[in-house]
Amino acid sequence: MKRYFKAARVLVLWLTVFSCCSCGVEGTWKLPGGENGSLSEGSSNPAETKEAGLAEGQEGSWENRENGEKTAPWQYVDTAMGTVIRQTIYGTEETAAAFSAEVMALLTEMESSELSWRLESSEVYRINAAAGKKDGCALSEEMAQLLQSCMDLSEKAEGAFDVTLGPVSRLWNIDKWAAVTDGEDFKPPLPDAIREAVSLCGSSRLRLEKGVSPRIFMPEGMQLDLGAVGKGIALSRLCELLEKQTEIAGAVISLGGSILTWGSKPDGSVWKVGIVNPFDTASNIGILSLEGKWCISTSGDYERYVEVNGVRYHHILDPLTGCPAVSSVRGVSVLSQDGFSSDGLSTACFILGPEKGMALAAEYGAEVLFVMDDGEIIMSDGMKRYFKAT
Ligand code: ADP
Ligand code: MG
Repeated sequence: MKRYFKAARVLVLWLTVFSCCSCGVEGTWKLPGGENGSLSEGSSNPAETKEAGLAEGQEGSWENRENGEKTAPWQYVDTAMGTVIRQTIYGTEETAAAFSAEVMALLTEMESSELSWRLESSEVYRINAAAGKKDGCALSEEMAQLLQSCMDLSEKAEGAFDVTLGPVSRLWNIDKWAAVTDGEDFKPPLPDAIREAVSLCGSSRLRLEKGVSPRIFMPEGMQLDLGAVGKGIALSRLCELLEKQTEIAGAVISLGGSILTWGSKPDGSVWKVGIVNPFDTASNIGILSLEGKWCISTSGDYERYVEVNGVRYHHILDPLTGCPAVSSVRGVSVLSQDGFSSDGLSTACFILGPEKGMALAAEYGAEVLFVMDDGEIIMSDGMKRYFKAT
């Protein structure tokens, strides 16, 4: 058993994971502000690690969240993909230990071999390094499909979503600033630099060659940033992992602001997922009650930002301006059967706002909830079946 503990390197953190228990909602998951990580950072965010109370090299343990005893559901907290990973697993201790280690291994592998723009070992790194090359870059089947989905979303979202925003997101580097300072040393990039970076982006200039040996061709200077969809894709992979095993009855796994619910609880009660209040990130504006498998992603301007002289520079960038999106939306949550859609749509809908965002979500069969800057909650009809304001 010990070896599982070591392999998982996890720590149970009750108060952090289930701070909602204090408001008496059993098994509620909240989406705390500042939790969303940047996949593009390529490594665990020290601020988040600190927030989760994880110490370097600390050996993990796990226990029941309700009584600290060794009974299900098992709780794990760790970091990967630059964010805090929380797992609640209903199964035997041994199964849960093995599964949680598998989850961490999968996430670490996805980051290092596929999605990170920082790690030389990743496919995205190789693609970016080949920008401007005449022969482009060979792609795995999965990456070709993912990029096609990104291009489709970009088109449907009228350019509000753009995975080629790498030059702009690196110029702002909001994730770094949000993590390491209180903002006093932050200086927004100069307009010329922003214009130059924007000129290098644009999904419509990305060329994919499909077939048995897919290839991508990117103009010089263009760089992929899959930060807006990486955690969502990971949710779908985790779901496949869960579906392959027979010993786990139910699980909730959150990767920062993207959450997977799967299966059921032994007592048959529903999953409860809290939607964070953008005006007070320690509380929820309401709860989603969900049965079985769902992916829920939240994007907001309160997640990662730096504030200078009353101006909030956040991490959701408008591809048109190359600047943090100016929006009357404070937070968007998307509910979908599929992680790519929930994650990608939450970013796109933040920029598009309720009217266009709702129409876009409908194209993906997803439900969406907007929290506006005046506190109004606007949601799709389908979302009303699951959401209850607190
Ligand atoms: P998080 O990654 O914190 O969960 P999001 O899913 O909303 O939050 O994604 C934000 C990240 O996506 C940014 O950190 C950046 O890497 C990237 N990004 C920002 N704006 C856009 C955009 N308009 N289209 C695509 N990706 C974006
Ligand atoms: Mg997203």
